[in-house]
Amino acid sequence: MTFEDMTEAIEVILDTGCKGTIISDFWLGVVLSNLERGEFEVVKKSEKLCKGRYYFGETEYQVYKTVEIPIQFGNQKLWFVTEIVSGGCIPWIIGTGTQKLIGAIIDLENKELTLQKFGEKVKVDINKDGHVILKLRNSFSNFSRVVYIGHRVPDWFTNDNLWRSKCKKLHLQFGHASFESIKGMVVHSFDKTEEFKNFGQERMSVLREVCENCNICQKYKKNS
Ligand SMILES: [Zn+2]
Repeated sequence: MTFEDMTEAIEVILDTGCKGTIISDFWLGVVLSNLERGEFEVVKKSEKLCKGRYYFGETEYQVYKTVEIPIQFGNQKLWFVTEIVSGGCIPWIIGTGTQKLIGAIIDLENKELTLQKFGEKVKVDINKDGHVILKLRNSFSNFSRVVYIGHRVPDWFTNDNLWRSKCKKLHLQFGHASFESIKGMVVHSFDKTEEFKNFGQERMSVLREVCENCNICQKYKKNS
């Protein structure tokens, strides 16, 4: 695992209070930016226009298309038909309709999800709202395993312009992560290097600027 092939922690919520499988276009963008190239093309081809609506509290959300998005379960990659809603910041939710199709059984005590129809069992988490969460990709913890000691520091850390675009990339790759969370990973990886001692601070201020000035975050008031 290197800096370049890290993937972010994309989460899916298994929601028993929602019938459909949906995601907002904002989060779809995050998911798509983390797919492999081949997967991305399949997702693009699967696009179909459609109409529908969902309510979250008082707010109505319009569905305007569906796409198929892959999730790896053990040895199986399943493609989930997902409705895309415009606006808002709705995460990827797998509703009861889809849960039935895969024969989902959730074992809250052991934090396990069994897919009866596919003979797979995977670990789940419970988030602070009591929702069942499935982690699709490796999380931040993988990032911190990359520590540059005695290795050549990558160009994107030593070069001003490359660093700026790398910051944008990292911010997106980690699901519009905050400055603090990316900083933590970067410091952990580079603080033992000469380069970090020389211009680490400057790098961190660029990172902060990029994270805090992201248009999408400002629009959805994320990143707080
Ligand atoms: Zn952002």
